[in-house]
Amino acid sequence: MSLRENPAHPLTFTIGPIDRAALLRPDEKKISAFLTGGRAQIVPVWNQRHLISTDSRPLIFNYTEAARRVDLSSTPLVFLGVENDEPWFALGLPDSETPPDMGVPGTFVMLTDVVTLLPAGEATLLAYARAMVIWHFNHLHCGRCGAPTALTEGGHSRTCTNATCAHRSFPRTDPAVITLVTDGPRCLLGRQSQWPLGMYSTIAGFVEPGETLEQTVRREVREETGIRVGEVRYVASQPWPFPSSVMLGFRAEALSTEIRGDDDELEDCRWFTRAEVDAFGDRDAGGVGFKLPGRYSISRFLIEDWRRET
Ligand SMILES: [Zn+2]
Repeated sequence: MSLRENPAHPLTFTIGPIDRAALLRPDEKKISAFLTGGRAQIVPVWNQRHLISTDSRPLIFNYTEAARRVDLSSTPLVFLGVENDEPWFALGLPDSETPPDMGVPGTFVMLTDVVTLLPAGEATLLAYARAMVIWHFNHLHCGRCGAPTALTEGGHSRTCTNATCAHRSFPRTDPAVITLVTDGPRCLLGRQSQWPLGMYSTIAGFVEPGETLEQTVRREVREETGIRVGEVRYVASQPWPFPSSVMLGFRAEALSTEIRGDDDELEDCRWFTRAEVDAFGDRDAGGVGFKLPGRYSISRFLIEDWRRET
């Protein structure tokens, strides 16, 4: 399957045709040959944004084009993998107040602003590139001794340059649970004050050290809504590099129904019937009334999954 194909699949960022070719990462000569061999496909990422053309296509560069615009020796260049005999790389452009001039007509935009316009495979690849670049810029110094780190293993690790330390760190993704709680005919949705007006979503929170995923689901739902949940069932997962998570989607059965938020994460939380959710609008539709989360989110996937049940 190519990056441009767009299979019918409702969960964005999960169609991943690229071969990550992880066993090649330690082979510096091979990675270098990939980069300069003429077939390299380089995806620039600047300030957590991708360079998108006026017709909503990601703009990709070869080595010569990229080297003309950017000092490739001083900024993260990450080997992402191989697709159709083409090696793909993510290029982390240094922070700057204004977007760098890459010499082509296009704009650096947030992935969430264009994701619904992209073929599924491209959306997944851009999410992967974004996650890797963000990790690099957050780990330029050693977490153990503070010395600068250097990119190693094709960008899939960073190694401390202090020889007596030599600590190696690896890209991290933070697990977060996201849960649709039901009490039979109704589902539990809440909203945070900074979300688009009227948008309600499923209950989410980060997994803490020492917790099972099921324990996180029960704790987060209890903290945010006061609802106790019994059976917890895993449904699906979604990479969520905003900035560095993987969302683990669950369904949970409520054991209680009285809503009472013990923390202030949600400004409102309610039970909704299917008929009520059917009357919701779309997140970006504007206007007043209740709205569903974006179509690219696993939250929406969990809600639609529930709506299809009879
Ligand atoms: Zn160190």
